[in-house]
Order: sequence, then structure tokens, then C-alpha cells
Amino acid sequence: MSASEEFLATSLQFLKGVGPRRAADLARAGLHTVEDLLYRFPLRYEDRSRLQPIASLKPGQAASIAGRVLSCGLRSTRRPGFKIFEALLADESGSVRATWLNQAFLRDVFAAGQHVVLFGPVEMRGSGGLQLTNPQYERLDDEEGETVHTGRIVPVYEKAGGVTPKIQRRLVHDILDRLPADLEDPLSDPLRLRHGFPARAAALRAAHFPPADLPVDALNRFDTPAQRRLVFEEAFLFQLGVLARRRVAAEEEKPAVVRVDDRIRESARAVLPFKLTPGQRQALKEIVEDQQRPQPMNRLLQGDVGAGKTIVALLAALVAMENGLQVAFMAPTEILAEQHFASITRTLQASRFRVALLTGATSSAARRRQLAEIAAGSLHLVVGTHALVQGDVQFHALGLVVIDEQHRFGVLQRATLREKGLHPDVLVMTATPIPRTLALTMYGDLEVSVIRDLPPGRLPIKTVVQPESRRDELHQFLRGQINEGRQAYVIYPLVEESEKVALKAATEMADHLAQEVFPDLRVGLLHGRMKADGKERVIKAFAAGELDILVATTVVEVGVDVPNAGVMLVEHAERFGLSQLHQLRGRVGRSHHQSYCCLLYQHPLSDEARERLRAMTDTTDGFEIAERDLQLRGPGDFFGTRQAGVPTFRLIHLVRDHRLLETARAEAADWLASTAPARDAVAALLESWSSRFKLMQIG
Ligand code: ADP
Ligand code: MG
Repeated sequence: MSASEEFLATSLQFLKGVGPRRAADLARAGLHTVEDLLYRFPLRYEDRSRLQPIASLKPGQAASIAGRVLSCGLRSTRRPGFKIFEALLADESGSVRATWLNQAFLRDVFAAGQHVVLFGPVEMRGSGGLQLTNPQYERLDDEEGETVHTGRIVPVYEKAGGVTPKIQRRLVHDILDRLPADLEDPLSDPLRLRHGFPARAAALRAAHFPPADLPVDALNRFDTPAQRRLVFEEAFLFQLGVLARRRVAAEEEKPAVVRVDDRIRESARAVLPFKLTPGQRQALKEIVEDQQRPQPMNRLLQGDVGAGKTIVALLAALVAMENGLQVAFMAPTEILAEQHFASITRTLQASRFRVALLTGATSSAARRRQLAEIAAGSLHLVVGTHALVQGDVQFHALGLVVIDEQHRFGVLQRATLREKGLHPDVLVMTATPIPRTLALTMYGDLEVSVIRDLPPGRLPIKTVVQPESRRDELHQFLRGQINEGRQAYVIYPLVEESEKVALKAATEMADHLAQEVFPDLRVGLLHGRMKADGKERVIKAFAAGELDILVATTVVEVGVDVPNAGVMLVEHAERFGLSQLHQLRGRVGRSHHQSYCCLLYQHPLSDEARERLRAMTDTTDGFEIAERDLQLRGPGDFFGTRQAGVPTFRLIHLVRDHRLLETARAEAADWLASTAPARDAVAALLESWSSRFKLMQIG
């Protein structure tokens, strides 16, 4: 390890002022080493640089002042237990009081005669006159001329347990003081020059303790050369890894290269129940081209709900099977696996290929039989959940893996396959349109096909947003639609922390709807806590038209296909994320009947919730929804909590920094092409890369 690396790897617990307690607090916030602390931007910057003469202070503003302590002390208030520390401060222009509530220890910090700098809000005192309330403070006599917390543009960090922004500021300042003069820089001189980026050490200094002449709003937009350089550095290293991984993958060979001839084309035409849309046709072409290459396919098929991804995947499966290869078709839930199984069996009825369903519900005798047939190669297509590739299933000749609605785990499963020595083609399908910036980073080594059109004859779904007070009217509307032969969903949000409560609400609402609102209609209930066979019964009944209304928590989100369902009523729509609402809406609009999505909300509505609901009425285009969702929520939340395969960025903000990301990608490609690193250099790069971005688990 070089001196630079050693310094950056220093554990925070060894720093002055960090005891075991603080070290633990920092660790909980993901901060373990000096590098962690340096490679984390402040939440924001505050300009405390302009010292104001005390006489010019006005109430209602935040101000920095410098002065001498005339007197100070603790006093009690009328409320028992409350103590106020007060100091009287003077400069040439005048004097002002500063007060701190319940910080008795300040007794030992301040003393008359000291020179101090304060920063804080100026308020009017009850007795008249002005005061600074709970200001940040710094004693000038114990600083070597330079202030850390006041009198400059200061960084404000996110609190980490008991480690306040102020303590962190001090820590970072100390670290920067000790930064090795010759800190190694992963960015070469020419590269930095090309983009006007400062060197690494200078950038770290300026990003935490900016020079006085930097505009504070540029800092707060994270748009100064130092900040941009650090973001670029992270993006560059990340893209190097992505491209290196792609290069390694290009050396893999799959078990058998697929051929396509007229016979196969004819067999595809024979099973096709309808004419493909242009989007489906194009996607299929791209997929089949991949299948004919010697390297395993690694492709993401994106298309809005109802775009018709399944048939495209099935035709690709047919191509594989016609070439003597087996196909694993994976769905995220057993319900979906069963639906796929049913429709695939129907479509392939006239073909000679044999399809099996393998789920947790399969009896052990049947399972044993199926496993033997899969191993022998006499079962050609197996539908199941992710257990399909993770468990003890041995394929005779696995040629293609299709992963439905699970883009998050697609990468993971690929790694599992590789570990088993399998290198099949992998096709991941998703109805979550992924904005380009995310696709670039998360799926940098995936090829992407997009279906943007919908099968013909679909009427755009009508979306209405109404306050709860209009529920009765909507129920009447629901009844009208059901009288016309449609079916309806009523969705309740499932708040994770209180699943029980949400469940109770859904159950009660189902009872209420069944007994009081629609006593003459057939109402079913579906929720996540139900046993698999219970769920199955309800869904089958709904799909068969034996239920008019399906009350559900969000389990229907992932893809129940009931074309006759024409109304989607979402309760507490304000609690759902935008992409989630869009997914829910996608459950209707699957037939030639007009469909409706009714979003009921409860007051008060936050600005963000209002924006989400507006977006839902503005557009039905999933890509536009995804972009808006990303803007609204930021990338951290876009996919919910942290997922395997989603890189952990320290500085990159996917929305804010998308241009830098593109530049970094181009530079990384150039670097790889011009440096042409040897195999083991690439392997080493990949190793540090995956641990750095916490991608270890996906190999
Ligand atoms: P998704 O992309 O959401 O997985 P599906 O594959 O489930 O969509 O397709 C939705 C519905 O549209 C299915 O009932 C399917 O049979 C039908 N479908 C798909 N493609 C076409 C097409 N080209 N013409 C007519 N109907 C189609
Ligand atoms: Mg689907």
C-alpha cells in the first residue's frame, strides 16, 4: 500500500477526538475510514464569511459577527429545569447578546475577554434589543488564525448519531491538514487538463473548505470545479469497471450458438397468435441477433406494462428450443409464474415442446420427476421463480434464461449461473422504464431493447384524481362499470412498518365493500400474508370472472393479467410512489374496452404527492413517468431501498450529474482502449471496483 492509500484507509477511530462511541456512530452512517469522510460532500454550504458590524444587525437574518466577550454566565428561567447561557459581545460598532438554551457546559468554554466568532439567527428579544439565538461559535485564541466553523464558507454535514455537523467539520479539517502533499491522483494530468479539473488534494480541500471567493450558490449546486472533479473521479472509476466487466464477458463462450433458418421462422409463425407490433418486431430482431453470437446475450427488454414483452421472450425461447436448447423462464412470484405457465402452454400447444411449472407448490414426487426430465433434456421450457436457477435444478442444455419483472436481480442471477459454470443467453424483462442515466450506470454492461408501442386497439386509460370525500361517487361509478360487465380492483397501500394495521384496513375495507357498499356483488380479498394456494384461488376466481371486485394490497402490482378488469381504484394514492402508481394503472387497459384509473387521496397533500398525482393525469407514457419519478425522488429512492446490483455512489447524484457521467464513460472507454491493460490488470481493477462500489455480491 502506498503512503496515500494508507492514509486514506486510516480508521476513523484512531483520529483525535473520536472515541469508541463516536466511531460507532460514524460507522453506522457508513463512515469508517478517512477516505469515507473525505469522499462525502457536505449536505450544504453556509456563507459565514462576511463578518457584520454588530450595529448593523437586523432581526430575521443569519449573521456572522466577531467580537470580545464582555461578560457571560448561566441563568435559570421561569420554567424549572431550563437554563440559559448568555454572553454579551462587543465590537467597535456596538454590543449584542447571545443566548444558548440548555448548554450549561458553555460555562467552561466562554470567559470574559475572549475573542470569538459567532454565526446564527438574529432575533428580537422579548425585552427589546437583539440577540443571537443558539449561534455556532468559535474561540479565536485556540485556532491558529484560521476559523473552521465561522468567518468563512463552512460545510454543513449530515449528523451521524451523536457526531454533530460541527464535530465532523473539525474532523474533516484536521484530516485535510494532514493530507499527504503527494496524494496520488487516479486522474492523469492530461485528462484533468482537458476538463479543467483541479488535482485530487486541492479538490478535496476546496470541496470541504471552499476558498472565500467561490459563490456559495454554485457550491450548493455542487457545480464548482473541485466538486465536479470529485464526482467525475467516481464516475470514471465506476465506468472503467463496467467496461472492464463487459470486456471480460466478451471473452465468455456460450455452450451452443443458435442458428436461425426458414424452418424455425415457420415454426415461430405457427405459434404466433397475433401480428407483432413494430416495437416487438425490432426487439425480437435484436434478441435473435444476440442469440446467434458466440458470447452470451446480456440484454434488458424494457416495455411498458401491456407492451407485449412475453410473446417476444417466448419467440426467443422457441428459437433456442428449436436449436435443441432448454429455457428457464423466471417470474418474481408464484402467481406470475403460474400465469406465464398457463399462457405459454396455451401458445405452445401445437408445438412439440414440453413445458413444466416448478414452484414451491409442486409436490415432491412431481418435482423429482420433473428434475429428472429437465436433467435428461426431455422437458424443454421450465417456468418458475428465482429458485429455478438457485436451487438443485440441473439442466441438460440450458441455452436461455428469461427473467421477468426482476431487473433488480437479473444481474445477481447471472452471477449465480456463471458460478455454476453456465453461460446461457440472459434476457431480463422489465416494465419499469429506466431513465437513460440510470441505464448507463446500473446496466452499463447490458444491451437494451425498448418496446415503445402498445398492441393495436388499446384505448388510453382515463385517470381521475379525487379527494376521499368523493369516494361514494366513485363507488357508484365502479358499480356502473361492473353492470356493463367489467371487473374492478380496489388497492390499499401496504405500509411496511405497520403491515398488520394495513392488513386490517384492507380486510375491513373488503368486508365493508362486500357487506355494505356492494352487498349484491362478489368481492374478493388478496394480500401478501395469504398462503400461496389462498392467493391462487382468489386470483383464479377473479381471472375467471367469478369475482367482480378484487380488494388487494400491492401484490397485484407485479403483474396479474386480467383483461376484463377495467377499473383500478387506488385508496390513499398519495402514499404510493409514482412508478408504483403507474404499475398499478397498468393492470387495467388490457382490452378494447375503455379503462379507468381512479386515484383517491387524503388531505393534507404534500407538494411532492401533488406532483405525483399530477404526473399521473398528465401522461400515460411510462418513460416520462420514470423520468419524473427520478426527478421527484432522486435516484436513491428510485428503486426503493438498496438493492443488490445497484452501485453505491458516494458523490454521484444520478440526476444532477448525468452529463459528467456521460463524459466519464467516454473517457473511461478511451483510457481502456489506449492503455490496453493486461488480463490480470483488468482482473485486479475489477476486484477493487466491485468492493468499492459494494458490488461484491454480483461478482
Ligand atoms: P407485458 O409487456 O406487460 O408483459 P404481456 O406480454 O403480458 O405484456 O402482453 C399484454 C397482453 O397483450 C397479453 O394479453 C398479450 O397476449 C397481448 N399482446 C401482446 N402483443 C400483442 C400484439 N402484437 N397484438 C395483440 N395483442 C398482443
Ligand atoms: Mg409481463
